[in-house]
Amino acid sequence: MAKKKRKLRISAVISLLAVLFVVIFAIVKLFDKPKTNEVAEVEEVQETQEVVVEETPTPQPTINPEEDERFFDVNSYLVVANKKHKLPDGYEPSDLTIPNVEMRYNQWSLRAEASTKLEEMFAAAQKDDVYLVMGSGYRGEDFQSVLYNSYCDQYGCDVADTISSRPGYSDHQTGLATDLCGQDESYDLSVSFEETKEGIWLKDNAHKFGFIMRYPKGKEEITGYAYEPWHFRYIGVDAATEIYNMGEFYSFEEYYGISGGDYAD
Ligand SMILES: [Zn+2]
Repeated sequence: MAKKKRKLRISAVISLLAVLFVVIFAIVKLFDKPKTNEVAEVEEVQETQEVVVEETPTPQPTINPEEDERFFDVNSYLVVANKKHKLPDGYEPSDLTIPNVEMRYNQWSLRAEASTKLEEMFAAAQKDDVYLVMGSGYRGEDFQSVLYNSYCDQYGCDVADTISSRPGYSDHQTGLATDLCGQDESYDLSVSFEETKEGIWLKDNAHKFGFIMRYPKGKEEITGYAYEPWHFRYIGVDAATEIYNMGEFYSFEEYYGISGGDYAD
């Protein structure tokens, strides 16, 4: 009898333990559930964050423009001459050509490709009843020296720096720059050229022939030069169109991230 009672007690304890186990298991499950959701949510957030990170464009390995040959090889149509970048000493282009266009003040030349594109541009303008005149083109280092020194003598070199480039720093020495005029000489090399028929036509169309306005309005700090609506620089049709498409008065230095502004010293 005693044995049977003990057996019964043992089985009762086992049953109780089993019930307890089920209850504990249920409780644990109950409390565990939201916890699992929390974890899932955190994981979801992390996943979302990861996706966001993936969507951010990976920075492309960029070439430092200050080390990019396109801007410092004199054979490149993107070669830079500004107050921070001097051309090689005594540089003179080897393919200077005299374009067959109307000229003023002198007989000017440009590098061969720029010369051909200038002729095309003048012809296209004529079809629109716009008659352009070439007022300046390639200017050698010697010419620039004489010009700059005469300004230095007349006004002092600080003033000369604001109106003329030092020899070796002039865009005109690349053989790719030209000052353009209209039929009325009184607008020559003047900001009022922007109001003329010729000035307006050039602003809207020069890029189609590979020329950009090199010193746009309001960009003196970036280019190093005051607004010159008459100074155009050949850089090739694709590059000129890209810069033109950036919007009104966008500068070469801005587009390529090249340093400009005033002289370093
Ligand atoms: Zn010029």
